[in-house]
Amino acid sequence: MIELQGVQRHYAMSGQTVRALAGVDLHIGQGEFVAITGASGSGKSSLLNILGCLDRPSTGTYHFEGRDVATFDDEASSDLRNRRIGFVFQSFHLLPRLTVLENVMLPLRFHRQPPPGTHERAVSLLDRVGLGERRDHRPSELSGGQMQRAAIARALLLQPALLLADEPTGNLDSRSAADVLALIDEVHAGGQTVVLVTHDNDIAARAPRQVKLRDGKVESDALQ
Ligand code: ADP
Ligand code: MG
Repeated sequence: MIELQGVQRHYAMSGQTVRALAGVDLHIGQGEFVAITGASGSGKSSLLNILGCLDRPSTGTYHFEGRDVATFDDEASSDLRNRRIGFVFQSFHLLPRLTVLENVMLPLRFHRQPPPGTHERAVSLLDRVGLGERRDHRPSELSGGQMQRAAIARALLLQPALLLADEPTGNLDSRSAADVLALIDEVHAGGQTVVLVTHDNDIAARAPRQVKLRDGKVESDALQ
């Protein structure tokens, strides 16, 4: 599903070049659950942004489902993101003025004709993540764990082939974190591909495969 070859990502910073990724080769197959680990600054988020087509390599190639994403224009890459990829971020990224249900329905904003049954699907996803009763609330009325569960429901609305999560439990207490991780396990068990970024080794150990970054390179890639 994912094939990276020689991927580098450089950022220009006040006249200096930061090499966030310094040559990454990575293959991730359909249905895998991979944890990306490494110290702060090792390039985890840079890598995830490229996997999610939010950003592009400075050099090297990325094939997603067999297609070279460098050949996509902005519209094609946002279309791919919207239809094939779900994102979960540390800080939830819910829109405060919308209700929980409206937030979960947000991925439809790019669709002129929503796929049939999507509203029902949003409602049932909220039930599944334990927020059925909260769907007409605003995000500010939820706890952190509830906000993240709403964000996961939103990420799953269009049944993405790939779920990307960047430190999804970074702002949560341990109990809420456990709920969120259990949900991510369920997504993987349902056959979706999951890539989870975390600097926490205990969390990484839940995934069958751990890829460790160091200074923008893959230091180790282990199956357990
Ligand atoms: P991690 O997620 O592992 O903490 P990042 O991918 O965020 O690592 O960052 C890797 C390196 O790239 C760091 O040195 C960081 O400061 C730098 N970096 C990340 N994003 C940017 C950016 N937009 N502009 C400049 N430097 C950046
Ligand atoms: Mg990061």
